[in-house]
Amino acid sequence: MPPPAGILFIITAPSGAGKTSLVRALISRDPSLTLSVSHTTRPPRPGEIDGEHYHFVTPERFTAMVQADAFLEWAEVHGNCYGTARANVESTLASGRDLLLEIDWQGAQQVRAKHPAVGIFILPPSFSELEARLRRRATETPETIQRRLFNARRELEHVDEFEYAIINDSFDRALSELHAIVQAERCRTVRQRQRHPLAFQTP
Ligand code: 5GP
Repeated sequence: MPPPAGILFIITAPSGAGKTSLVRALISRDPSLTLSVSHTTRPPRPGEIDGEHYHFVTPERFTAMVQADAFLEWAEVHGNCYGTARANVESTLASGRDLLLEIDWQGAQQVRAKHPAVGIFILPPSFSELEARLRRRATETPETIQRRLFNARRELEHVDEFEYAIINDSFDRALSELHAIVQAERCRTVRQRQRHPLAFQTP
């Protein structure tokens, strides 16, 4: 019998809310989680590695993948295209591993229309703190920061579409909450019944 399908987690946050650091810390705390590596037409930032942070592709390659229906979801975010390759999601979940998608609200809507998923939204403690974090990041131009702030307002309008909301005012607490959500979802009776059938059998 194949293993029960893994859980699909979607993590969404406005740019600068601290999502990427939280997700990386979560994966090292819980290595049984797999992080999906998206495709993007955005150029790599200093230190970003192709195949690890993203699959960096040309707009032509991205369009060809869209036409080949290779994406489970894709969206234009901050002027670049981002997408989640369908094949990787399906094979990871089918192998029983839980998978994390770090995608925006548009992608979250597309995925949830096709696949059951647990949505987690990460909020910055305030809008002014978000702005300060984006400025501290120093990898963005002033125009990019303005665009990301504008998009953050739009992103926040979708928070109620997610089952869980985490306020990232303390990294350690936010990380604990994120991990607690993952663990609680794994303990849902319907999933425990699939993963541990013997425990539910009466003699
Ligand atoms: P960044 O350029 O800062 O790495 O990411 C910008 C935004 O794109 C973030 O909100 C991130 O969640 C979103 N994003 C990254 N990968 C994907 C993806 O595969 N699909 C969608 N829809 N959004 C993505």
